[in-house]
Amino acid sequence: MSRDQRRAVLKDFAKEYSRGGYNPDRPMTIFAFVQELSETLGKRSNARRASMAGAFAVKTYENTSKKYGYKGEQGPVHCSKGCGYCCHTRVTATAIELFMLARGIRERWHDDADPLKARFRQVESQTRRMPKDQWVDSRIPCAFLAEGSCSVYESRPLTCRTYASVSLPACIDWFNHAPVAVPQPDRNQLMRVFILAGMKAALNTTGLEAVGFEMGHGLEVAMTPNAEARWLAGEPVFAGVANDAQTARPGGRQAGHEAFDLMVKVFETGAFGKDMPPNPWFSW
Ligand code: SF4
Ligand code: SF4
Repeated sequence: MSRDQRRAVLKDFAKEYSRGGYNPDRPMTIFAFVQELSETLGKRSNARRASMAGAFAVKTYENTSKKYGYKGEQGPVHCSKGCGYCCHTRVTATAIELFMLARGIRERWHDDADPLKARFRQVESQTRRMPKDQWVDSRIPCAFLAEGSCSVYESRPLTCRTYASVSLPACIDWFNHAPVAVPQPDRNQLMRVFILAGMKAALNTTGLEAVGFEMGHGLEVAMTPNAEARWLAGEPVFAGVANDAQTARPGGRQAGHEAFDLMVKVFETGAFGKDMPPNPWFSW
């Protein structure tokens, strides 16, 4: 395909994307998300562009999910307010999501009477130096889990938003340490991989750190004075925070790191009309 043809195809994807997000049935429409997120992150005059990019990624996922998300083909989703077995684990989030979360809870954070803060401190003291596997095995509740519900629901990271189960009994079994895989809707899994790979591609494209940080410690860092501006300026503000690209959730995706990394490379190139590395999904 010639350069002009690629440009025309990308324009067409952008049009479709603007009408409701990336369409899993036309998966290359994710390129429009990568372009837009890269643009947001590239606006150097905007000192809040990291947290704004986090909020933009979240909004894109929510909009897309509404239009193209799972419609019950594999049975009803069992998730409900007050459930939360899946929230007894370690969560990671990218820097842009952490800055979004920091903005969402800044007022509560400065209120020492807010129970969120006491709980946060307690979980942090338990987990800060705990190896990842031990943390996951211990089923320690997330610092933000309050009476079975997420107390930062509006600002929760994508890894939480994109997780859903079609079997509450399987979630309970996981919680009780049974060796089960929690069944998740295929469509959700696809949409999750796309938004996470798209976010990572945009971060790489703009030269910013594209890893998932442990959420609690990462948030503490994101709340320090001028952390967002310092991170955008290239200061390694999250240097002491444990990071990894994988989050262990019941039935969570543990394998496929290489495929994910390839997908990120495909998004990084394809979104800008460049030659994509050989891959089993997309071609010009
Ligand atoms: S994933 Fe499982 S544990 Fe979490 S809310 Fe849904 S049904 Fe409940
Ligand atoms: S941030 Fe909220 S949704 Fe995510 S694990 Fe914690 S309590 Fe659960």
